[in-house]
Amino acid sequence: MARYIFITGGVVSSLGKGLASAALGALLQARGFTVRLRKLDPYLNVDPGTMSPFEHGEVFVTDDGAETDLDLGHYERFTGVAARRTDSVSSGRIYSNVLEKERRGDYLGKTIQVIPHVTNEIKDWIGIGDDEVDFMLCEIGGTVGDIEGLPFFEAIRQFGQDRPRGQCIFMHLTLLPYLAASSELKTKPTQHSVKELRSIGLQPDILVCRSEHNIPEKERAKIALFCNVRPEAVIPAYDLKSIYEAPMAYHKVGLDQAVLDAFDISPAPKPNLTRWVDVEDRIHNAEGEVRVAIVGKYTQLEDAYKSIAEALTHGGMANRVRVKSDWIDAEIFEGEDPAPYLEPYQAILVPGGFGERGTEGKIRAAEFARTHKVPYLGICLGMQMAVIEAARNLAGLPDAGSEEFDHEAGKRRFEPVVYHLKEWVQGNRKVERKVGDDKGGTMRLGAYDATLKPGSRVAGIYGNLAIDERHRHRYEVDTKYREALEEQGLKFSGMSPDGRLPEIVEWTDHPWFIGVQFHPELKSKPFQPHPLFADFVRAAKEMSRLV
Ligand code: GLN
Repeated sequence: MARYIFITGGVVSSLGKGLASAALGALLQARGFTVRLRKLDPYLNVDPGTMSPFEHGEVFVTDDGAETDLDLGHYERFTGVAARRTDSVSSGRIYSNVLEKERRGDYLGKTIQVIPHVTNEIKDWIGIGDDEVDFMLCEIGGTVGDIEGLPFFEAIRQFGQDRPRGQCIFMHLTLLPYLAASSELKTKPTQHSVKELRSIGLQPDILVCRSEHNIPEKERAKIALFCNVRPEAVIPAYDLKSIYEAPMAYHKVGLDQAVLDAFDISPAPKPNLTRWVDVEDRIHNAEGEVRVAIVGKYTQLEDAYKSIAEALTHGGMANRVRVKSDWIDAEIFEGEDPAPYLEPYQAILVPGGFGERGTEGKIRAAEFARTHKVPYLGICLGMQMAVIEAARNLAGLPDAGSEEFDHEAGKRRFEPVVYHLKEWVQGNRKVERKVGDDKGGTMRLGAYDATLKPGSRVAGIYGNLAIDERHRHRYEVDTKYREALEEQGLKFSGMSPDGRLPEIVEWTDHPWFIGVQFHPELKSKPFQPHPLFADFVRAAKEMSRLV
């Protein structure tokens, strides 16, 4: 049976709960324990799949095809443990399960209530797979006091009671604001936040206090006294230059020790932190910088491309360079020459996206990269744009486009080089979708195998001919045009094992131009950079030597 750590937040949102949870997971691993991290989100959407990246940040896809919160990306990047569908749940999903059971008659005519029916559903979810790991870390989204959060807080309170004593602990993150006028750190909001938690029956064992200023011993003691927490369990969390400093920073202030003490695990196994020492060394001791242009649509919110930004950082770490990426809105050079915008960069990345807006700009970016021999990585939509560019400008198909944009326009305007896929094979299973299906989960989602062409650039990069990568898209490049495109030099170097679906294209006569139908960024880790990102940054570094 796993031990449980429930992580909640108070005072304000965006305190870095996800990061603290991920760092703690990494530290427990460093002490030889196995972990799994889970996110419980109080919002009513059934999953983040249909939420706007402008508002909610990126959708993180798991191997088993769930569309989840971007915090799961942090969890994976810090622990290397592949997240599963059952590691992310929202109120929407919980209520929809409960209502489905009610309609089916599973509750035998009982009156359905938040307690016990909704809370039981949450507890069942929390308990999934608890015999597989030493520690299960469950983060509750939002802040204590939110109306939507209450059933989750009540469920974790009950869960703590249901389990044998000493099996669950509660960790609460708060903020200590600094008043410049009186040069003081204020502890009152933290006291109130803990009071709020205690009023719903939860006594935190560990308090993690975010602060922009040093927290003096005296203040720690005061917080401990007023919040009924041991002084050594009041953990300061200061701002960091890089998120990857978090495991070492939390270790130095005693977070993992405090957690083991709270569980009475003694003697505590000694940690092996070499992985994180190396990661920090690579971040702090980069030699030089490369500049990458990310030409996309959701450029106002950095979180919309979170995993891409992180994967580029990892690629930089692999090459001991800093990667400076600028987000460029593809719409700026829709009708003009992109050269003035793109010339300052050693590499261009066109990320995934949905809808027609900005696509003509992305096609121009792909053309610029091809003709100026600038390294180009096209991800999902970025690959589709590269194919359309080649079809229009070289393969004699001036009207090449995607059915995605035809659907939006409601009529056929393009030669569909990229078409809407309605049935495909996953493993041994045939998957079918109808055009009018609801928007949730109607895409090709999750891990799929691909076979690489011997001798291709990607085969060299992966060092393997059989790979699997995560997908999230509705449209596919049509193999009907393969021959015409390959004749021009755009090789289809990765295909689905049945040979039906193009997975990777690459220009042969180019220093580095690769388009992938999947999302390699989702599997990159600081201690194990994704080979495509590592090699892309290497190519960019090469370019910076040339100029
Ligand atoms: N909109 C495209 C499709 O559905 C690309 C999706 C993506 O980039 N994730 O195929």
